Amino acid sequence: MSDKNKVAIITGGTRGIGYGIATCLANKGFDIVIASTNEKAAQTSAAAIAKEAGVEALGIACDVTQQVQIDAMIEQTLTHFGQIDILVNNAGICPFVDIMEIDEAVFRKTLDTNLTGAFLCTQRVARKMISREKGGRIIFITSLCVNVAGATLGDYAASKAGMHMLMKSFAIALGPHGITCNAVAPGMILTDMTRHHWEKPENAEFIKGRVPAGRIGTPEDIGNAVAMLCSDESSYINGVGLIVDGGHQTVCT
Ligand code: NDP
Repeated sequence: MSDKNKVAIITGGTRGIGYGIATCLANKGFDIVIASTNEKAAQTSAAAIAKEAGVEALGIACDVTQQVQIDAMIEQTLTHFGQIDILVNNAGICPFVDIMEIDEAVFRKTLDTNLTGAFLCTQRVARKMISREKGGRIIFITSLCVNVAGATLGDYAASKAGMHMLMKSFAIALGPHGITCNAVAPGMILTDMTRHHWEKPENAEFIKGRVPAGRIGTPEDIGNAVAMLCSDESSYINGVGLIVDGGHQTVCT
């Protein structure tokens, strides 16, 4: 068991933005828990991070829609590390189905994963943080869909806007315990979730014209923002949604 480093749980940290967040936090010296539905992928990603950053990292199977699995993941983390300092609610899905065609089951799954999953993980981890009396940091990975939507993003946008308000409610409830809750809202980031769209040449051109930064975002761009909100210097930032989109949403046309 390590007693020198702070411990961060990243849900859905096997790839994409979650892996970028885990890497950035590990490079700052945090020990890491990667929780995803795919145990082998979680263990492989954890091993790569441990090797690269020289921290301890565990990969644990956990479907964030299943409260029993969340409780087991938290217990396994506490048995190994003895503490939880940071939770990043990153696990998410986006089926990209038209709101007029989407099945109820698909709609419910998006809400269950993105919104209810973040609620369950936060409530359960926060209870442990409160009883430890050492504070903590909880980050919600939302989206530009907190502010804008699309015909194929109805379920997703509803889940992300819900996450944003969930974050605020937890910020109020947990602030007195020294636990801050904030959201990071990524813009357009190249990952498995979005690759099918952004790797088309015409869409790559759109990014160059539309995003003032002139490029698509990387998982590390989001990881760096999360690491900043998890730093000791950010202890008075609570209940805030930080847009990390290279300036995309500041453009008026
Ligand atoms: P990916 O599809 O690349 O990764 C999603 C991660 O979530 C995987 O690790 C996956 O692991 C995990 N996951 C999915 N369902 C569950 C579940 N039920 N329980 C636990 N883990 C789960 O997506 P991104 O990296 O692009 O997205 C990460 C987050 O960032 C999401 O919340 C997404 O909404 C958000 N986001 C992404 C943007 C983008 O442009 N890419 C923009 C704005 C927000 P596994 O399959 O092994 O369970």
